[in-house]
Amino acid sequence: MWVVLIGLSFAAFCFYMAVRSIQKNKAAKEAAENSVTARLKAKADIKDTICTEINKNFLDLGWYCWTIDDHKLELQYEKIEDAYHNGKSMMLLDCDPVEGTAKVRGASGMSYKIDDEGCSCPAFSKSQLPCKHMYYVAMNYDD
Ligand SMILES: [Zn+2]
Repeated sequence: MWVVLIGLSFAAFCFYMAVRSIQKNKAAKEAAENSVTARLKAKADIKDTICTEINKNFLDLGWYCWTIDDHKLELQYEKIEDAYHNGKSMMLLDCDPVEGTAKVRGASGMSYKIDDEGCSCPAFSKSQLPCKHMYYVAMNYDD
C-alpha cells in the first residue's frame, strides 16, 4: 500500500514540477518579449525625436523638398547616424542659414556645395534624397 502511495506522490510531484517549469518558461518568454518590445519602442522614440529635430532644422534652412517621412526611411536614417557618428571626419566650411547654403568637406577630403535643391556629392545626385553632408549641416549649423 505505502509503495503505491509513494509512487502516486512521486508522480504528482513530477507533474507539479513539469507544470511549474512550463509556467516559468512562459513567464521568462513573456519577460523577454516585453523587454524586446520596450527596447524597440525606445529605439523608435529616439528615431522620432531625432527625425523631428532634423526636419525642423531642414525647414529652418529652407530645405523644403524633403519631409520627416523621408528622414525616417531606413536608408536615410542610416545616413543620419553616419553623419552623427562620423561627424569628426567632416567639416562645415561655410554656412549661410538664411540663404540655406553650405559648404562641407567630406570624409574623402572633397568639398561639396549644398543648397535648397540638394548637395553636389555623387550620393545625392544618385538618390535625390538628403545625403550625410546635408544631415551633417543640419546637425551642426549655428542658427
Ligand atoms: Zn552630399
